[in-house]
Amino acid sequence: MEEIYQQLGISKEVFQYGQKFEALLEGRFREIDKTAEYNQLKVLKAMQAHKTSAECFMGSTGYGYNDLGRDTLEDVYAHCFGGEAALVRPQITCGTHALALALMSNLRPGDELLSPVGKPYDTLEEVIGIRPSKGSLAEYGISYRQVDLLEDGGFDYDGIRKAMNGKTKLVTIQRSKGYQTRPTLSVERIGELISFVKEINPEVICMVDNCYGEFVERREPLEAGADMIVGSLIKNPGGGLAPVGGYIAGKKECVENAAYRLTSPGLGKEVGASLGVTQSFYQGLFLAPTVVAGALKGAIFAANIYESLGFPVVPNGTESRHDIIQAVTLKSREALVAFCKGIQAAAPVDSHVTPEPWAMPGYGDEVIMAAGAFVQGSSIELSADGPLREPYAVYFQGGLTWYHAKLGILMSLQKLYEAGLLVLHGTSKIN
Ligand SMILES: *Cc1c(COP(=O)(O)O)cnc(C)c1O
Repeated sequence: MEEIYQQLGISKEVFQYGQKFEALLEGRFREIDKTAEYNQLKVLKAMQAHKTSAECFMGSTGYGYNDLGRDTLEDVYAHCFGGEAALVRPQITCGTHALALALMSNLRPGDELLSPVGKPYDTLEEVIGIRPSKGSLAEYGISYRQVDLLEDGGFDYDGIRKAMNGKTKLVTIQRSKGYQTRPTLSVERIGELISFVKEINPEVICMVDNCYGEFVERREPLEAGADMIVGSLIKNPGGGLAPVGGYIAGKKECVENAAYRLTSPGLGKEVGASLGVTQSFYQGLFLAPTVVAGALKGAIFAANIYESLGFPVVPNGTESRHDIIQAVTLKSREALVAFCKGIQAAAPVDSHVTPEPWAMPGYGDEVIMAAGAFVQGSSIELSADGPLREPYAVYFQGGLTWYHAKLGILMSLQKLYEAGLLVLHGTSKIN
């Protein structure tokens, strides 16, 4: 084993350092495998209940009327995530689009949107109109209110009660921390928040941005009282195989509203050709529980290794996980660049290219990104990025298999080690 790692560029010291942690994490990994087993059965049960058949993989073109595979897949998603209905389409271009669709179709002029968990994901700022933007909810007369989390990460129940008013129509709850430092919300905590909101007004629609959260736990937010969950197929539920797409699942009325907005009033879910991607959607969903397990192991492995080397990590090495994102504060530009170079060098695709920091449109600082993915921009595949500014934190996620995630992390460690940016305790090298 050591030899093949060496052939890939991992030195003996780095390999052995990693092995130590893998052994320590055995119990934790077993738990993750149990969750994957449960979720695998959940997916199978949903696929069987809706009689998934070979005909489902045929696909359609043109209007896409009577697309059996598409319609069945939407039933499978609804069943699997605990909703009444779902919209799962390649025409939903990404997670932001799915979220915008869910919001724009379920809110009307004069309504108010409330985020009780602080600022939502960056790209939603323009959807909502927090940053003025063409076509935002604000332009359509939909107002927005936000209640930040308390300093200790708790919900500001008093603040939420005060913020809710006669106009409050929809509450948006982001499960994952995204690029913030607050903790990710567990399904249980999301459930508590929803109960509180529904007690004040049972009519309010509770939507959860489920990006990066699918299959991390045994329960999904619809099972904890959410009316609607929204996510991207090039993250967890696409299992790495879906080449595009997004989904909305939940109450029939919410999903129908979204369908009428995605296509047209009167047409709704009836149209929308699946263009040959259906089989990859099914197969991706089928594999998603194990893919997510691999990504989670990678995140936990990295957290423990980097924490041991004195780099702050969020979440830390021992806390429970509710999404697949890992942040590591690398403290210097050199270390951030070296980390990303390692992730890139371990990729199955484009391992020969070197990531460089660049001034990306829409960002204040230079950003560095590492990705060697089969699907462009897919972040269920091993990927890392971070802005070149203090405290030089890298956010990384994914890995279609645990073994690839492991190699990526060891390679990042290798690059830092070679650059003389860390000392591996318990190995022969002394800096
Ligand atoms: C990724 C993500 C989004 C946006 O998804 P895109 O597919 O990148 O548009 C929204 N919210 C959260 C929490 C995310 O992680």
